Amino acid sequence: MGARKRFSILAVATLAVCGALVAPAGASVTHTIQPGETLSGIAAANGLTTDSLASWNGVSSDYLVIAGNTLSVPTPEETGVTAATTSATATTSTATAPASWLGSISTPWGDLYLDAGAAAAWNAMRTDALNNYGVDLYPAGPLSAYRTSAQQGEMYELFLSGVGSPANPPGYSSHEYGISVDLATPEMRDIVDQIGWAYGWGKVEAPDEWWHVSWTD
Ligand SMILES: [Zn+2]
Repeated sequence: MGARKRFSILAVATLAVCGALVAPAGASVTHTIQPGETLSGIAAANGLTTDSLASWNGVSSDYLVIAGNTLSVPTPEETGVTAATTSATATTSTATAPASWLGSISTPWGDLYLDAGAAAAWNAMRTDALNNYGVDLYPAGPLSAYRTSAQQGEMYELFLSGVGSPANPPGYSSHEYGISVDLATPEMRDIVDQIGWAYGWGKVEAPDEWWHVSWTD
């Protein structure tokens, strides 16, 4: 029973919800709280426990977040839960073992997957961004590129329960087709706007989610 409970906590901790800002590897970032977000939802999207995010900010774990206020979001390493994060990432990798129609992209979370054509175009665009703009392009979290329908379902359930950010039900997200990426930073979006169309990548849906870009070829 102990092991089962631990697994489900890790599974939730690894969810990077479409719409949640995820801290890039390396250092804490300032997160501006959006309407509808909760402390536990922000923590889950960043691979943190609610308690660790609360204590990092010097507030109690039942702290009521207010839209417009900011929180400091540490990396899991900074809060000393590296082991849990590693396990959670491994769980995700197993769940997204590549089908033949998928291709891989390099990310701070290891290889993630997209439709093979979308992945090839992404990799070429990323090389262009690195070489000519000095900007790396990567998804905001381990579930911010391709998602299985089971993973989409988990995110939708989190959304329905009031913990996660807005997510479509399974069968209705372009992430399940491996043709969309949720970018980690606005700077990356600027680069995609400048060079993405040559690679078939651009902003074509979800107008209220700046981070969500798609492959349109
Ligand atoms: Zn998205």
